Amino acid sequence: MEMNENTQSSGKQSDQNEPQLGRPQASQSQRMLIGSHVSMSGAKMLVEAAEEGIDFDASTIMVFTGAPQNTRRKDISRFHIAQGRALLDEHHISPLIVHAPYIINLANTKNPHAHDFGVQFMLGELKRAEAIGASDISFHPGAHVGAGAEKGIDQLARSLSEILEKTTTTHVRIAVETMAGKGSEVCVNFQQMGKLLKLVGSPRLCVTFDTCHVYDSGYDLKNHMDDVFSQFSDDIGLDKLTVFHLNDSKFGLSSHKDRHANIGFGKLGWDALYRIATMKQFAHVPKILETPAIPDPADKHTRYNSYKREIAELRAGTFDPQLPEKVLADNGRASSPVTSQ
Ligand code: FE
Ligand code: FE
Ligand code: ZN
Repeated sequence: MEMNENTQSSGKQSDQNEPQLGRPQASQSQRMLIGSHVSMSGAKMLVEAAEEGIDFDASTIMVFTGAPQNTRRKDISRFHIAQGRALLDEHHISPLIVHAPYIINLANTKNPHAHDFGVQFMLGELKRAEAIGASDISFHPGAHVGAGAEKGIDQLARSLSEILEKTTTTHVRIAVETMAGKGSEVCVNFQQMGKLLKLVGSPRLCVTFDTCHVYDSGYDLKNHMDDVFSQFSDDIGLDKLTVFHLNDSKFGLSSHKDRHANIGFGKLGWDALYRIATMKQFAHVPKILETPAIPDPADKHTRYNSYKREIAELRAGTFDPQLPEKVLADNGRASSPVTSQ
């Protein structure tokens, strides 16, 4: 779908992006392209993911094709694709994004199995992504584990080139994620990302811009957003930005921590995140929330996800400082710990 110029119903977009309270329901093409990670872990897989997205009023969703921490995957025949796609299409949820599991490390030059294993897995992941009608796979670029960023990125470029060359019949893109700089991660700045994309030179290699990671890695999205995007434009190219992960950051600028926070509850803050969510030039780019679920004060093993409320806040343009309490109340839980033991 093409970018619609009338994303802002007011017809103007001030730098401050003042919340537009009570604005009329936008038509389908004017809706903010926002959603969240949803779970495909139930028995009906894509159907449940779609139902969750519909419940959240999402216009785009992201799924893992199995557990994020491992690479065991069910056969595509068990994904309930026809029924899931019908729901997504009926509710105009598009695009669908896949997130590759965390444990693949294609930047690893030290473990001889990492390349073969990662390439094989990604070939399967591209098949699964295509089968469910995904546009992009958000992909963590991995870590150089001591070999140095240059070697790590060279290795990553070789692996990604091989994957892309072996999958020329699909349109599914690999959108490499900007990383916070934890440990020896690669693609922790735009120069490294730009170099990777240049080395591979494929139109199917793109970028997932994670707002928490970019801020944590040292780009001041809060106070100098325009400079950050112009740096991205110089080093990578804005046409390469195909997915946003919209997250606040618990620890903030240059912390290299990669701890996400709920929208408006972190160091990056509501204003910056709302501005990204409403920027006209990114109206066609899906924004995916990966914000933390709210822990139940009475039972720390139970958490309730906050996506439905955060999506509603972003659509309405109003930050709700009571989000955690309301999420708990939605689930019939009290916001303060029960004192009796
Ligand atoms: Fe990610
Ligand atoms: Fe992310
Ligand atoms: Zn993260």
